[in-house]
Amino acid sequence: MNIMPNDLGRQYSLHAAEYEEKALQVLRSGWYVLGKEVEAFEKEWAEYIGAKHCVGLASGLDALWISFRLLGVGAGDEVIVCSNAYIACVMGISMNGATPVFVEPDEYDNIDAEKIEAAITPKTKAILAVHLYGQSCDMTRIMAIAKAHDLKVVEDCAQSHGNHWQGQTVGTFGDVGCFSFYPTKGCGAFGDAGCIVTNSDELAQKFRVYRNYGSEKRYHNQVVGTNSRLDELQAGLLRVKLSHLDGFNAERCTIAETYNKELKNPHVHQPKIRPGADCTWHQYVVHVPKGRDALAAYLKEKGIGTIIHYPIPPHLSEAYAYLGFGVGDFPIAERYAGEVLSLPMYNGMTEEEQRYVIDAINQWEP
Ligand SMILES: *Cc1c(COP(=O)(O)O)cnc(C)c1O
Repeated sequence: MNIMPNDLGRQYSLHAAEYEEKALQVLRSGWYVLGKEVEAFEKEWAEYIGAKHCVGLASGLDALWISFRLLGVGAGDEVIVCSNAYIACVMGISMNGATPVFVEPDEYDNIDAEKIEAAITPKTKAILAVHLYGQSCDMTRIMAIAKAHDLKVVEDCAQSHGNHWQGQTVGTFGDVGCFSFYPTKGCGAFGDAGCIVTNSDELAQKFRVYRNYGSEKRYHNQVVGTNSRLDELQAGLLRVKLSHLDGFNAERCTIAETYNKELKNPHVHQPKIRPGADCTWHQYVVHVPKGRDALAAYLKEKGIGTIIHYPIPPHLSEAYAYLGFGVGDFPIAERYAGEVLSLPMYNGMTEEEQRYVIDAINQWEP
């Protein structure tokens, strides 16, 4: 057997004819950037998430840095983010000249809200809540802290397309919800794409202007913006994907439940879901405190691919050496980097494939 950690071709094959029809329709339309498909997708995505506005952008990273830019977070300001975040989360903060302030994750792999207040200083301007692996952060606690300290909240929902905290869709709690539609994400495009959602009319309008060189009316530039436009082909294909997203999420849920039920190796700890959160299982991430790399190598021998999300916590990456952190500064994130392993999880995964993965893991000894 040869099982990939994520098999995008498999997901494509589930609805190939629909994607191909939409692609041809857009190609033949003669209109390729910011048009009817983008408008329709923005409307449908806002509705799906339960937000007033959606603005399509070129990537998830753009969604993050433009959010901080438009919220007025820049040089001299601090933004709180979890210490086990994906590097893009941190870049979204630092690209504006702001300083990321790391807070350790809890047993649910997301920011430990109980540790946020200790990290707040007079320079703190915002909290970036990253809903990692498809699981919601404790948004009740995070919003209460933000309110008490007058902080902006940006949600990074790149890995959490359509999951909820206490019944409310993530992305609708903070000032802005940021989404990436990178191909591996829940609602993945066929290239790079992203968006923001917000309930603020004023902010939504600022995003629309900013993404298109700062112009609302062509050649009338109000601010120094950027080019972060969503194209018609991606938007059209995302509309097809969105029409199947609940089905994709439900299927990943079933796969996760099978892992939860059938994985019985005491050395392989299953993911924990915070009470009140639901999870769309962007990844199924186990913790292997002893012998993670040996397990990955053993699985590879058997034709089973796995990924580590993520092997180097941001504070130890070369890119952030200038922050001056070293080994031991964020011990939980460092420990997680050494023990997390994402098991194969994709739409279209067969029972037979999953059985093979489960049996292999259950037979493993460190
Ligand atoms: C994928 C991802 C991003 C970045 O999105 P891009 O579209 O690749 O720029 C940001 N944050 C998280 C948590 C992600 O998983």
